[in-house]
Amino acid sequence: MCGIVGYTGSRQAYPVILKGLKRLEYRGYDSSGVALLKDGELNVYKKKGKVAELEESMIGKNIDAQIGIGHTRWATHGEPSDRNAHPHSSASGKLAMIHNGIIENYALIKQDLVNKGYSFKSDTDTEVLLNFIEDIQQNNNSTLEEAVRIALKRVTGAYCILLIEQDNPDTIIAARKGSPLVIGIGKGEHFLASDASPIIEYTKEVVYVNDYELAIVKPDELILKNLGNEKITPYITKLDMELAAIEKGGYDHFMIKEIFEQPSTIFDCLRGRLDAKEGVIRMSGVDKHIDQLINANRIMILACGTSWHAGLIAEYIIEELCRIPVEVEYASEFRYRNPIVNKGDVIIAISQSGETADTLVALEKAKENGAFIFGVVNAVGSSIARISNAGAYTHAGPEIGVASTKAFTGQLAVLMMVALNIAKHKGTVSDERYKSLLLELEEVPEKVTAILKNAEDIKIIAEKYKNASDFLFLGRGYNFPVALEGALKLKEISYIHAEGYPAAEMKHGPIALVDENLPVVFIATKDVYHEKIVSNMQEIKARKGKIISIVTEGDMISPGLSNDYFAIPPADELIAPILTVIPLQLLSYYVGIAKGIDVDKPRNLAKSVTVE
Ligand code: GLU
Repeated sequence: MCGIVGYTGSRQAYPVILKGLKRLEYRGYDSSGVALLKDGELNVYKKKGKVAELEESMIGKNIDAQIGIGHTRWATHGEPSDRNAHPHSSASGKLAMIHNGIIENYALIKQDLVNKGYSFKSDTDTEVLLNFIEDIQQNNNSTLEEAVRIALKRVTGAYCILLIEQDNPDTIIAARKGSPLVIGIGKGEHFLASDASPIIEYTKEVVYVNDYELAIVKPDELILKNLGNEKITPYITKLDMELAAIEKGGYDHFMIKEIFEQPSTIFDCLRGRLDAKEGVIRMSGVDKHIDQLINANRIMILACGTSWHAGLIAEYIIEELCRIPVEVEYASEFRYRNPIVNKGDVIIAISQSGETADTLVALEKAKENGAFIFGVVNAVGSSIARISNAGAYTHAGPEIGVASTKAFTGQLAVLMMVALNIAKHKGTVSDERYKSLLLELEEVPEKVTAILKNAEDIKIIAEKYKNASDFLFLGRGYNFPVALEGALKLKEISYIHAEGYPAAEMKHGPIALVDENLPVVFIATKDVYHEKIVSNMQEIKARKGKIISIVTEGDMISPGLSNDYFAIPPADELIAPILTVIPLQLLSYYVGIAKGIDVDKPRNLAKSVTVE
């Protein structure tokens, strides 16, 4: 969370930073700000609210500078306000700093500084770290770089920080631990950002900074060091991303653009890997480590949010096809308890951004215990991708809408291929079933296209139920996690309270909520549970709940029990979740729009959760 941008070079810094902040706004939009440095004058401008509000407040201000830093905030310490917005200025006014993360021992450091006479303008942990750095710099008479290094050795928590200094006309000092940082290398200029989206239109050559590294960035020079002051050779990577991928391209919102991109993102995910005709799946991350995978005593899946739902579906699929026991855990729980992880356990980590703080730390812990880590990540080059022993990218392209859509279906496609691959090698799936699943998987993009053609039908349903105060989502088997995902999407995007439940479980509690005002969404596609779920629909109907169902084309029973229904093409039950989730994504989008919500930036949320 929090987006950071920095620039040093010969261009005007402000337009580069402002554009970068707009691209990173999905990471937080509580406030934003910039610090610009020119001829020994350090100006800090900041504003509560979205980047557009900062932009407006900048009219008439002095923005002439070739070096600067900017921040868009997702508040952790201190309410969203002008005062708590970044950049923060040090007590002397000579330093400005932006920060993504949480300094966990800030209270102790703050107390020490207060005892020394410091006072603070904000409630943030960031301002504490900044003054701690300045205090060290002044007491030790050291350079900023040295002071940063000393300070960082004494802080706990997570950070990516960027600093500029009044007396240093062209240098940005940057450091990270736990929060991402990419540096773009131009000709006589450098760009710094939380992800590559602010950089891509200027250069494709980037360096991903690692934890505990510090960068001294000047227009013509990039020096990387570890906290022990030893130089590290920067490893330059070529970005494989086009500008169009991070723009709205004619859609009103990123969320709907990303929903509609799914036929091509799923196709891209399968491309080069799945060959249904030949009956093979080629995934180097799996092929190279196949012994490890097929001999796993157990697979543990660690994830958060939507990715956790993908993990639940994968649990069902892997146990069915590979006959390996699977456990799915919230990474945030795993990391703080005392889990049993043994050598020979395989951990699958699922994350869109590859920067999810809880997942990252959970993985470090599992790795220490000798587990083999397989990453299913969307963002290429991200921290989770790099810490994993092996993995497979989802290839969904940059996902900017805060609510995850195309990354989720990409995760499902990857996990399905991983499971099929293991099952094939292990001999736990018949040739016939294997081939038919390959063929079905290949048909998914086409089926998603067919579903999206009828998106307007969902819009009508959304209009009808937009004023409901609660929703229930019910599914069985592979579609139970889809019910959870449908409920989560609706909560995120429309602020309507929603719960997902296994359809049979509703009798153990939630059925008490049912009355004529409660919309109940059934994922009732044709599968082995169909008759059972039809009975559950009857139970809701008998209590006058409003039934919205997702059914299989040609189903003659479920539509008759429903107030509204949406039909999708038939699919094997293992594949169905990739299809059944699409109408639920559309439902939350259209309800959100009907309620006038900024669906790309729903309140209190941010996309890549890089804080705990
Ligand atoms: N802890 C800092 C603040 O509250 C940065 C927050 C973040 O990275 O999300 O301002």
